[in-house]
Order: sequence, then C-alpha cells, then structure tokens
Amino acid sequence: TKCAQNVNIIEAKNSPTIFDRILDGSIKADIVYEDPECLAFRDVDPQAPKHLLVIPRRRITMLEDAQNTDQELLGHLMLVVKKVAEQEDLTDGYRVVINNGPDGGQSVYHLHIHLLGGRQLNWPPG
Ligand code: ADP
Repeated sequence: TKCAQNVNIIEAKNSPTIFDRILDGSIKADIVYEDPECLAFRDVDPQAPKHLLVIPRRRITMLEDAQNTDQELLGHLMLVVKKVAEQEDLTDGYRVVINNGPDGGQSVYHLHIHLLGGRQLNWPPG
C-alpha cells in the first residue's frame, strides 16, 4: 500500500546505505574516479556494457530532497559524469539516469547518477 511505502521510505532515508560502506572503504568497489566531493564506481549489476554510478560523498537521500544549497554539488556531479564517460571511451553516446523514489525504481537512498553506455539503449525505459 501507499502508506506502507511511505513508512519504508522514511526508514530508508534514516538508515545507512551500502554506498556509505563503499565511501568508507569497508566494502570494495571498482572505483574509476574520485575527488573531494564525489566518487564514481562500476555498478555490480551492470545493465549495459558500461554502467557506472556517480555519488556525492555527502549524502543526499534522493533528488527530491536536494536543496538550493546543493546546486554547486549537483552541477559538479553532472560534469563528473561527462568526465567519466570520456574516460570510459563512450564516444558513441550514453545515457544518464537518476531514479527517484518507488515509482522511479530507486533502491539505494543515497543520491546516485547512473551512466550507461556501450550499446544502443532503448527508449522509453520500462
Ligand atoms: P535499482 O537498484 O533499481 O537500479 P537504484 O537507482 O537505487 O535502483 O540503483 C542502485 C544501483 O546500485 C543498482 O544499479 C545496483 O546494482 C547498484 N549497487 C548496489 N550495491 C552495489 C555495490 N555494492 N557496488 C556497486 N553497485 C551497487
């Protein structure tokens, strides 16, 4: 039900996520880029030949919780996506996705940008 879903989101936003453990090094990830603001690593369950995630070190739970004060960080993440795409030789194009909330299919409540490429992607997504 919608009500149970809302309880689950509150729970998810208040709990640490797997990405905290990647950020603190307690679980390994295949990191391809890092700087003081963010980290980029390979998705463990790739949906395309290249599937990377770019995350801010400072947790924003989901896009809808982003504030005006996050503007610079959000812009930086987008430029890092571009840089990683270049680094990964995605010269024929790629797709950039943010899943927000249950209908968006978000499962990890630490904002992350998906970068997908290496094949022709279909539109619309499922
Ligand atoms: P979904 O899981 O439906 O794709 P999200 O947009 O929240 O929803 O994406 C979370 C992503 O994090 C997934 O693509 C998942 O494969 C990836 N992921 C989960 N755990 C790890 C991990 N330990 N290392 C790398 N990627 C991970």
